[in-house]
Amino acid sequence: MATPAVMLIVFATWWYFTPMRHEPVTLPLQLHAIMGTEGRVVVQVPRGRIDEELHELRAVESEIRRIEARMSTWIDDSEMSRLNHAAAGVHVPLSDESLAVLRAAHAAWTQTDGAFDVTCRPVIELWREAARTGRLPDDKAIAAARAESSWPQIELLTDGARKTVATARVDLGGIAKGFAIDEGIDYTTGNFARSGVHLTAGGLVEIGGDLAVSGRAPGDKPWRVDVRDPFGTGTLGALEISAVREGRAVPLAVCTSGNYARFSQIEGRRYSHIIDPRTGRPAEGVPSVTVLAPTAMTADIWATALSVLGPEGLNLMNQHAPEAEAMLIVGTVEEHSYICTDGFLAYVDQALKTRIGAL
Ligand code: AMP
Ligand code: MG
Repeated sequence: MATPAVMLIVFATWWYFTPMRHEPVTLPLQLHAIMGTEGRVVVQVPRGRIDEELHELRAVESEIRRIEARMSTWIDDSEMSRLNHAAAGVHVPLSDESLAVLRAAHAAWTQTDGAFDVTCRPVIELWREAARTGRLPDDKAIAAARAESSWPQIELLTDGARKTVATARVDLGGIAKGFAIDEGIDYTTGNFARSGVHLTAGGLVEIGGDLAVSGRAPGDKPWRVDVRDPFGTGTLGALEISAVREGRAVPLAVCTSGNYARFSQIEGRRYSHIIDPRTGRPAEGVPSVTVLAPTAMTADIWATALSVLGPEGLNLMNQHAPEAEAMLIVGTVEEHSYICTDGFLAYVDQALKTRIGAL
């Protein structure tokens, strides 16, 4: 009769050689209350590595929470809050990560003709206050908030930043999620410097509806990304994405900016949470923008920027982010139209295609 020790050795040998050990299994991890919203990471990993990979997924989560702790202006001792509260002339030390995001934000400000402007924080605060009190700000208050902060008042140094006026302050709400998603997806694809998850087929990192995928979805299918109806509660259709290039899983991101999820009601009207820095008022006329790009930071930036610029911004996007594709819904609930770049159409499912009218 086989002793328990022999049985164990037989089982271990079988387990080591069985194809089951390499079979892909899907591991989901919910990210609760992350960057002011909900998120998730989904990866397909070999069955034989579940425990190690779960450990790696928790590392992805800590990575994202670490970025949040540095960049959120809702956290009082974050690097951005420290910059915002600093007096003029003070050298505020910043991590390489925060500086990288600020540099990208500054470049985006130039590329978008000022439509993407993380320094419009005082104007954002003014409209948040208006939403709280239910009273619209007057022109004088808007002009005062606009004068408080702008890029020329913030100097980026090699290891930090310095402001020329104390009132200058930033808000990374339109870009930090994208940066965090990129870090997460890099980790899952093993591009991350510190090891990472061993994917068998693909992965997904989502924070508040913005996401990046790599490879293919469970069941060797394309990833399906629902496109929300900005005028209702349902979806308009979906994007179908196989993020594979030359046989290798590559990241591809989809970010949406719109007034369906976050908006304010002031004096009976709905206002977007995106500010048009040219007027100091909430952006209007573009209820939804979806951008697909190789990195989530690029997609995040342009989704916000196109919400301000409208279809005229597509030329700028084509010039500065030629690999990005976009779909805009412009107009009102009664009368609206879809505007899409040619490359975007390659990803839309039949339902969305019918809506766009590009059959
Ligand atoms: P998103 O949902 O990515 O479009 O980001 C919107 C958030 O970005 C807002 O809630 C603000 O925190 C911030 N924001 C608003 N207007 C702008 C703007 N014109 N440029 C950059 N960030 C903005
Ligand atoms: Mg954005």
